[in-house]
Amino acid sequence: MQNYAEQWQRMASCKGPHADLFYPPNTTERREEKANREADAKSICNDCPVKVECLDYAIAINETYGIWGGLNELERKNLTTRRLRLR
Ligand code: SF4
Repeated sequence: MQNYAEQWQRMASCKGPHADLFYPPNTTERREEKANREADAKSICNDCPVKVECLDYAIAINETYGIWGGLNELERKNLTTRRLRLR
């Protein structure tokens, strides 16, 4: 039996050849390159059927790298901060 994360990850639109867009390269990445890479990744997220599940999962495990659910690490951190303030 698959766990919850395994189930929604099977439907992820980022699987396959463009998976590299979702994480920074091992080499130095300039600001403009990062912005372009992230924009390309987020455009894939926008049509992903499991975007909500992905973002919830990334926040739940405190994922500190990459694009998850259409948000980068700083955007997820800001979202978490806003949610905590609303409690
Ligand atoms: S929302 Fe984006 S990062 Fe998450 S599974 Fe879908 S395509 Fe991948």
